[in-house]
Amino acid sequence: MPVDVVAPGVLRACAGGTNCYVVRTDDGLLLVDAGLPAHWRLVGEAVRRLGAAPRDVRALVLTHGHFDHVGFATRAAGRLGLEPWVHEADAPLVASPYSYDHARPRSWYAVRHPRSLPLQVAMVAAGALAVEGLQRVRTFGAGGPLDDVPGRPVAVPTPGHTDGHTAFHLPDRGLLFTGDALVSLDPYSARTGPRVVARAGTKDAERALDSLGALPPGLATVLPGHGRPWTGRVEEAVASARRSGVA
Ligand SMILES: [Zn+2]
Ligand SMILES: [Zn+2]
Repeated sequence: MPVDVVAPGVLRACAGGTNCYVVRTDDGLLLVDAGLPAHWRLVGEAVRRLGAAPRDVRALVLTHGHFDHVGFATRAAGRLGLEPWVHEADAPLVASPYSYDHARPRSWYAVRHPRSLPLQVAMVAAGALAVEGLQRVRTFGAGGPLDDVPGRPVAVPTPGHTDGHTAFHLPDRGLLFTGDALVSLDPYSARTGPRVVARAGTKDAERALDSLGALPPGLATVLPGHGRPWTGRVEEAVASARRSGVA
């Protein structure tokens, strides 16, 4: 299903193996990540299904600046007047979402993990090659609650995948948006289950594994940037990701 309910008041939009989320809060709607260009229409559908209108969308937070999480940010800025929030270390990536560092060449994965090819094709079909960068963003530097954002998500810096990668925690609702710090589908190897994204897409895999320790432990619905959400103890997912290692 391209749009599904994953928690009370939370819809996931899924295209090209990539997720973004629409969250109803007491202060209006919050978008977590801007997916790929194809997510724009799906997010509109999710907003309608929540009984809301585009003007009810109050903020967009980005877990990081990769192209597959910045997809419709420019459109959201132009049509909804949203200036996305992102960690200051990832602001240059949002402006230039294809120029990122990774530890191993991507071509190696297509040969080594042919099962990932349909996923790569689906990403391209969802607009992966046509993402525009965005200069105007609102930044935060440290972790902690973002008081000006609906739902007051707690920013949890999780560097490694990118320098400014950040997870967002809504502790009162048991929601943890993990972006690409902890996924259940690795787009580069097509492996499923809790894991860190492959070295083809991750700047510093060892740092990414270290950052798993920053994720708040306890029962939560974990909402990743790629793959299915799951509900359980975060520390168990973290332990499983550490056992899996990084492709
Ligand atoms: Zn990424
Ligand atoms: Zn991603």
